[in-house]
Amino acid sequence: VFRVYVTPTNTGEDRGEVVALLRNITDRKMLEEMRSEFVANVSHELRTPLTSVRGFVETLLDGALEEPETARKFLEIINKETERLTKLLDELLSLSRYEDKSNVINMESIDISDLIKRTVAIISPRALEKNLAITTDLPADLPAVQGDPDMLRQVLINLIDNAINYTMPGGAICVAAGIEQGELKVDVKDTGVGISPEHISRLFVRFYRVDKARSRELGGTGLGLSIVKHIVEAHNGRVQVESKVGKGSTFSFILPLAGQKR
Ligand code: ADP
Repeated sequence: VFRVYVTPTNTGEDRGEVVALLRNITDRKMLEEMRSEFVANVSHELRTPLTSVRGFVETLLDGALEEPETARKFLEIINKETERLTKLLDELLSLSRYEDKSNVINMESIDISDLIKRTVAIISPRALEKNLAITTDLPADLPAVQGDPDMLRQVLINLIDNAINYTMPGGAICVAAGIEQGELKVDVKDTGVGISPEHISRLFVRFYRVDKARSRELGGTGLGLSIVKHIVEAHNGRVQVESKVGKGSTFSFILPLAGQKR
C-alpha cells in the first residue's frame, strides 16, 4: 500500500506527477515480482530432474550397478531426465530470444501449405508410433503469408507435439488451414483428453500445465505454448483454443495475409 499526502497547495500538474510516480513504482514492483517468480519457477524445474538424476546415480554407486537389469532401468530414467533438462534449456533460450522485442524477424513470403506438409511429414512417425492417425486438410490455392519459416515451423511442431502427447492411442490429429475473414487460420485438431474451461485462459502462461504429473511424464516443460504465443504475436497474429473434456482440442493461430496491413 502506498500512502500519498497531497497538500492543498499542490497544483494539478503535481498530482499528475504523483500518479505517474506511483504507476512507475507499481510497474517496477510488478516486474520485480514477475522476475522473481520466473527465477523460482526455473529453479524448481531444474531442480526436479537434477534431484532425480542424483538419486539414481547414488543408488547405482551404492550397488545397483551390480544388477544389470535394475542398472539399465535407472540409466534409462537418467537419460530421460537429462533429455528433459536439455529441452528445458533450449526452450528457455528460445523464449528469451522471442521475448526480446528488439529482435527483428526475418520476414519472407511463405507457402504455408508446403510448410505444414513438410512439418507433418517430419512428425508423423511419432504419431504413428502411438497409433494416431495424422492428416492435413489444405485448400489448393492458399495465398502466401509473410513470416519467418523457422519460427512458424516451431509453432506447428509445438502444437502437433502437444496433440500427440495429449491424445490416447487410436485417436486422430488433423492440421487444417484456410482463409477466414481475410486472414489465414491454421488449426491443429485432436481427439484427445481435452481441457476444462477454467484452464483455458492460463494455457499460454509460462510453466502452466493442467496436469503437472502427466506433462512431466511426457517430457513436457510447460513452455511450448508460451513460445507459440510469442512467435504468433511477433507475426502480428493471435492464438485461439477450443476444447471439450474427453472429446478433444483445437489449437489455432491466425495470421494476416501478405500485403495486408493491420
Ligand atoms: P507442456 O510441455 O506441459 O506440454 P505446453 O506449454 O505445451 O507445455 O502446454 C501447457 C499445458 O496445456 C499442457 O501441460 C497441457 O496440460 C495443456 N495442453 C496443451 N496442448 C494440449 C492438447 N492438445 N490437449 C490437451 N491439453 C493440452
